[in-house]
Amino acid sequence: MIWEESHLYKNSLRQLDRAASVMDLDPNILIRLHTPKRALIVSVPVMMDDGKIKVFDGYRVHHNMILGPAKGGIRYHQDVTLSEVAALAMLMTFKCSLMALPLGGAKGGICVNPSELSMGELQRMTRRYTTEILPFIGPEKDIPAPDIGTNGQVMSWIMDTYSQEVGHAVPGVVTGKPIDVGGSLGREEATGRGVVYTIIEAAKVANMNLDESISVSIQGYGNVGGAAARKIEKIGCKITSISDVSGGIYNANGLNLDDVKTYLDKNKVLKGYPEADFVTNTELLELDCDILIPAALDGQITERNADKIKAKIIAEGANGPTTSAGDQILNDRGVLVIPDILANAGGVVVSYFEWVQGLQHLFWTEKEVNNKLWDIMSAAFHRVHHISQERKVSIRTAALVAGIDRLASAMKTRGFFP
Ligand code: NAD
Repeated sequence: MIWEESHLYKNSLRQLDRAASVMDLDPNILIRLHTPKRALIVSVPVMMDDGKIKVFDGYRVHHNMILGPAKGGIRYHQDVTLSEVAALAMLMTFKCSLMALPLGGAKGGICVNPSELSMGELQRMTRRYTTEILPFIGPEKDIPAPDIGTNGQVMSWIMDTYSQEVGHAVPGVVTGKPIDVGGSLGREEATGRGVVYTIIEAAKVANMNLDESISVSIQGYGNVGGAAARKIEKIGCKITSISDVSGGIYNANGLNLDDVKTYLDKNKVLKGYPEADFVTNTELLELDCDILIPAALDGQITERNADKIKAKIIAEGANGPTTSAGDQILNDRGVLVIPDILANAGGVVVSYFEWVQGLQHLFWTEKEVNNKLWDIMSAAFHRVHHISQERKVSIRTAALVAGIDRLASAMKTRGFFP
């Protein structure tokens, strides 16, 4: 089947099937969850700065909309495929359900390397993509957000294009917007902050004191990895290694994040940072550390390296960073893995807050946002941990059981159509 072409989709299906077997899920529900509700494939023609037209492949997938409008990011990356987007949409369904949000799961993307585009090209591509997926999105239907390669600026262009089409400002059509166009305080850091909130709860369960003796490695120093690093440094841990697409840097005594920022502002990439040793992205995963946060791409922890990982806690900032085979090895070794749909759910939770604030035209303080985020993340962690203890399953399976259970119940109550 076309959906199943990517490793990420196959991996997500394996996780779904495992959770379904543990919870004795109705096979009629399971088969429906195996494939998305619908997908839109679009060609995105862009007038490049040299006057030539380039055509990019774009996608938007709705996996499930039983609980409410679909929610999910838009990814700009050269490896984006329909199957990968569909897998990410499926994960969004389970994530929204797990966090008890009134939202379904979606994802979108364009197969493009955004770093090769000028700002003008990026804007034209975003606006044309928005026009092409316009019938699919809307504050009551499907609300995009940032993901790899997209940010608040891209969300603003999407919001503006949509608003121009309908004739009035519609802030609720996207989340992750800058504050001046209706964004929420705390949204930019929400995913990384939420990752750390789940680490705080996991550390209690693992009897780990989060102080300066605890070392943290982070793969991917973008929106998620960067915010997680700042938050976990603030609570007193030592960041010993971080990486980006250029590779990683390692200092056993701890990295100074202010210095790193100054270096990045000037040099754009981490490679060459003087106060640390260079490591590859693969080596970073195997370094000595207590906590590992994969916050870049999927498929990073596999059967090839899972037995070499030294961290006691892994918090999946990225979506799908661990393959099924890698996960099995980590489980057998007793590594506490906080799975993506729980660890990185802070982004969609505060996106939900942003959507609600936009619909009500009433905005909250950053403290209110962060306090509400903490309440939801810590409650979700303990709900999942309880299921994992009760059913003797991994935290990943328990998180899926919790998410699927709520969704399955809503699917049964609504009934199958026709
Ligand atoms: P981003 O584009 O801001 O950052 C990605 C980081 O990964 C960058 O530092 C980049 O240099 C690095 N990177 C790219 N290719 C790499 C490679 N081959 N090896 C190592 N590092 C590489 O993206 P982001 O928004 O931080 O998203 C990161 C992950 O978190 C993705 O899996 C995304 O789906 C997930 N996520 C993001 C959000 C969000 O709110 N942004 C929410 C939930 C999950």
